Amino acid sequence: MRVVRTVEQLREAVGFMRGAGQGPVGLVPTMGYLHDGHASLLRRAGEMCGTVVMSIFVNPIQFGPNEDFEAYPRDERRDLELAEREGADIVFIPAVEEMYPREIRSKIVVSSLTTRLCGASRPGHFDGVTTVVAKLFNMVQPDYAYFGLKDAQQVAVLRQMVDDLNMNVKIVPCPIVREADGLALSSRNVYLSAEERLQALVLSRSLREAHSAVEEGRAATTDEVRELLKSTISSSPLADIDYAEILTFPQLEPLEGNFPLVETDGEIIMALAVRFGRTRLIDNMIFTPKEVAALV
Ligand code: AMP
Repeated sequence: MRVVRTVEQLREAVGFMRGAGQGPVGLVPTMGYLHDGHASLLRRAGEMCGTVVMSIFVNPIQFGPNEDFEAYPRDERRDLELAEREGADIVFIPAVEEMYPREIRSKIVVSSLTTRLCGASRPGHFDGVTTVVAKLFNMVQPDYAYFGLKDAQQVAVLRQMVDDLNMNVKIVPCPIVREADGLALSSRNVYLSAEERLQALVLSRSLREAHSAVEEGRAATTDEVRELLKSTISSSPLADIDYAEILTFPQLEPLEGNFPLVETDGEIIMALAVRFGRTRLIDNMIFTPKEVAALV
């Protein structure tokens, strides 16, 4: 495994692998403090690609002024061990000055999709994400890029960017990896106190309960499902709901409150963002109501 820190070294390393016939090239962008969710992306990339590039970069321009950029957990030594174990060929760890040597004046902005859910609570966040991912795509020119559905809105936004701008890369969405008790893995889980960690289980539990309610016909409309999600989450006293929404996926269009979910044609997403103390956690479930309800 090669560790590179400059764009020049990165281009040279990827070029060498391509020249040696080691394609296709897969890219796994991360912010580090790696866990099994990131490992699952590396493994998927390894199945499909001759060369797997992982980037580790805590991207300042996707954090708001009062967010956790400085405090974001970092552990380079542990990250490199995991990357090597899970089959990365090249790891790119740039300093902020390497990625942004001067004030950036060009940004990629995807409209509409970025104004909902996390985009509403974190203004400018997705502009930072699309800009850094576009930079990484230009540096690596990967054939495939791997993203977790834990950040489902990010997947929807990046797909739109790639389609709109004819970027020559395929976005590969990967399933959410969870702890045995249901909590979605996240680098931010380390911020949680023992009590918050316990109460945070309400996220995945509320999603499972709402899914069963649709399956069994106990909740039929968007309003009913949203109310069910909110009442389950509110049973945890430490939970402070940022949003609990039901939208179409990947378009992220709102559905009328009294609209019967089984009549939607495609997939829907139940998306949650909930604060526990200073930590904001997200989780979601994507499914096709028509198929789920038909199972009963
Ligand atoms: P991050 O380092 O948090 O920016 O995440 C880097 C990539 O890993 C993103 O594509 C995330 O969606 C993905 N990821 C993070 N947590 C998980 C998880 N629990 N399951 C699957 N993918 C994840």
